[in-house]
Amino acid sequence: MTDPDRVIWDGMLSHLRRHHPALCRHWFSDLEPVGIAEGSVHLRASSDVHRDYLRRECVDAFVDAAQTASNSLLAVRFLGPGDGGPVPARAPGRDASVESLPHAAAGSRGADSREHEMRGSAARGPQPMLRMPPPSPFVHRTVHVSSEAGSVGSEIVLLNPDYVFDNFIVGPGNRWAYAASVAVAESPGQSYNPLFIHGDVGLGKTHLLQAICLRIRERWPDRVMHYISCDGFINNFMQAVQNNETDEFRHRFREVDVLVIDDIHFLTKRERSQEEFFHTFNSLYQQKKQIILSSDAPPEQIPHLENRLVSRFRSGLVTEVEKPTFETRVAILFTKARLRGIELGRGVAEYIAGLFDTNIRELEGAITRLQIRATVEDRGIDLELAREALGDEPRAAAPQPTIEEIIKVVCAFYDVKRIDLLGKRRHKSISLPRQVCMSLARQHTRLSLEEIGAQFGGRDHTTVIHAVKSVKSKRKQDIGFQQTVERLETELLHGSPAN
Ligand code: ADP
Ligand code: MG
Repeated sequence: MTDPDRVIWDGMLSHLRRHHPALCRHWFSDLEPVGIAEGSVHLRASSDVHRDYLRRECVDAFVDAAQTASNSLLAVRFLGPGDGGPVPARAPGRDASVESLPHAAAGSRGADSREHEMRGSAARGPQPMLRMPPPSPFVHRTVHVSSEAGSVGSEIVLLNPDYVFDNFIVGPGNRWAYAASVAVAESPGQSYNPLFIHGDVGLGKTHLLQAICLRIRERWPDRVMHYISCDGFINNFMQAVQNNETDEFRHRFREVDVLVIDDIHFLTKRERSQEEFFHTFNSLYQQKKQIILSSDAPPEQIPHLENRLVSRFRSGLVTEVEKPTFETRVAILFTKARLRGIELGRGVAEYIAGLFDTNIRELEGAITRLQIRATVEDRGIDLELAREALGDEPRAAAPQPTIEEIIKVVCAFYDVKRIDLLGKRRHKSISLPRQVCMSLARQHTRLSLEEIGAQFGGRDHTTVIHAVKSVKSKRKQDIGFQQTVERLETELLHGSPAN
């Protein structure tokens, strides 16, 4: 990559971090910028899984970043380790810099990823001069990962490179499911067959299934594997029936080494699909091919699932993923933050882990909100930001305290009279409780600055801002004061004095 190209790539990375923080992964900075050619920035990923993920999830954001960083109508092409890059230019004397490319026109960004790739060619500038490796043939892949809804022949890779075993936090609720998944990934078809993982939504079933696929793919690239959602299986089957392609369908699903079906509970009430799946299952099972399934309930509790399927599912290992403990949630938060290239202090992680305890997606959503707020406000991610960004989550369900309640609680705690608190006196013994009141009102009610000021003897909004700031900085400096405010908050929000 030439220096100007390098500048564009650096600009792209910082644009991505700033404008698409939730999408960013720490491994983006390991992408190899091959160069700019044929109107596209070419980026090489370290594995086909990463490349496919980028193509599937990230094209729009990368095109946005490329066009912003270059101020040109650039497209982006993602390459895998074995993919040939663009053909090196032959025309000497022409500058490959992006200035020579057509400038981006407003509204030119389409939504479809293929459109971006095509637009790259359409926007082809003069012959670029790049030091590119000669094109190499695409690596032949024997591992198949099936599309959700495509026709029998189509394939879209669905694996998420984040979903590896290394990124899976093991805790008391998922220890057995994890161990069984690793065992199956190490010796498909030989340990537990079928492996059936069940549990509530957002507890890591898909992550484990994909981790198995990624491990098998890494260890035995020659094994044929189908990873598909149950919906995908049903859709594929229905389409095959419609198009008279059931033979192809059977061939496709019965001649694999590993079949992975996510959310198998969706098979209920689909009689023909159940029938087809039953035969698929038997065929694979007899050949000692590995079958891995996930579901939101154990086999016998899936409504309308035929008994013969229930007993098939139970014939291997049935294991559950349960709610993560507090410590597991904290560890997951650290992992998710690291993947996004951000640092999370323990206090922040513990704060978030305390707010959400049923679904790990909520933890991820919380990190996203923190990231966005930190970016928009150009601040670091600390406890204060976390409280501001997520503070109303649990309170949304709980009733908010009224300003009268706040005044009452604060007066009682500081042993001051209401009339003094609302009056003009500026003595510290009064002004501090008054500021605490204002700050609590600001944080725990929906009153505006003006409305709060009006409650305290018609003070204006700048006084309230000053009070909120003073309390905030005193909380940071004085641990005793911090505990006092927390105690008042507990009393206001939960109705009983904290001991
Ligand atoms: P499910 O399929 O059970 O609904 P997912 O596998 O989609 O849940 O998990 C939801 C999110 O939570 C994913 O981003 C996943 O990586 C994450 N997750 C769940 N369990 C863990 C864990 N033990 N360690 C790390 N991440 C986890
Ligand atoms: Mg899932």
